[in-house]
Amino acid sequence: MLITLHQKTGPKELALLQCLLSSHGVGHCVSTTATQTVVGLESALEKSLLEEIQCLACVERVITTTTPYKLASRAFKKEKTVINVNGVEIGGQRIILMAGPCAIESREQLRSIAQEMKKSKVGVLRGSAYKPRTSPYSFQGMGEEGLKIHQEIQKEHGMLIETEVMDVRDIELVEDHVDILRIGARNMQNFNLLKEVGKCKKPVILKRGISATIEEWLMSAEYLMAHGNHQVILCERGIRTFETATRSTLDLSSVALVKHLSHLPVIVDPSHAAGRKDIIPALSKAAIAAGADGLLIEVHNQPAHAKCDGKQALLPEELHALSCELEDLARSMGRSL
Ligand code: PEP
Ligand code: MN
Repeated sequence: MLITLHQKTGPKELALLQCLLSSHGVGHCVSTTATQTVVGLESALEKSLLEEIQCLACVERVITTTTPYKLASRAFKKEKTVINVNGVEIGGQRIILMAGPCAIESREQLRSIAQEMKKSKVGVLRGSAYKPRTSPYSFQGMGEEGLKIHQEIQKEHGMLIETEVMDVRDIELVEDHVDILRIGARNMQNFNLLKEVGKCKKPVILKRGISATIEEWLMSAEYLMAHGNHQVILCERGIRTFETATRSTLDLSSVALVKHLSHLPVIVDPSHAAGRKDIIPALSKAAIAAGADGLLIEVHNQPAHAKCDGKQALLPEELHALSCELEDLARSMGRSL
């Protein structure tokens, strides 16, 4: 159950409601955004308490959800969420292309890729400064220096930028440098990270964990939302199956299904799903056909020398050719790129 409050509700009225809930042993979490306060309840209210709460002046609506995720559900919000990031709408009519290197390796590398991305209708320049690597001996990312380079290149080219945040201790720094935060697959159920990123004012891309069910993925979105961040962009990036020919198995049914279950925008990362570049155009087109609102694609100017994920990186000219094809596909679906 969710209780939505009138916009003008003051702290005293909210405290009274919380007292009432607590006195009846109803655990709850208050989610406050710039425009809305919603109280998520641990359990359904008994009839008499429900009636009492419905009579409170501050209460706008009591919503019953049949799913464990509430704020992320269509029951809470029927219309789809469109996230406006400095004029770029994610989840709207336009399909948003996010592309760039797996990791930021140097100023020259990112500058060279960014120059090319601008020509391919890329709205968001991706790049990680903090890298979650399977081996402790692999390149771990440039850290703060990488964030500074990312911001510098953004100023030169004007694209939005996004990057991964792996650690609660880095959240403030990352939020200061980029437009969109990203929670990687490995951290999808790092609940302390989710709670803290929930307090951020900037949008967050939430990747699906490699072994996460759709419900678990939506529950992680719920964590972010329950803690105040309703600007969540879900990202399908493939799940682990018995198949070894691809790095992960891209689950496109999740895209079609989540579009029904949730009002949140959904994007697809074909690069980490495939782990190889030859099938990225096909997966990208399939993702758009399944209803994705955007794509997150790895591109490198010298894939053979990339510090990570070179095998799955497209060359800038390959991304350009793909973006032309996607433009036609988007148009045929009544959308644009
Ligand atoms: C990434 O996008 O840089 C990444 C590490 O992907 P994932 O978290 O999906 O493995
Ligand atoms: Mn990568």
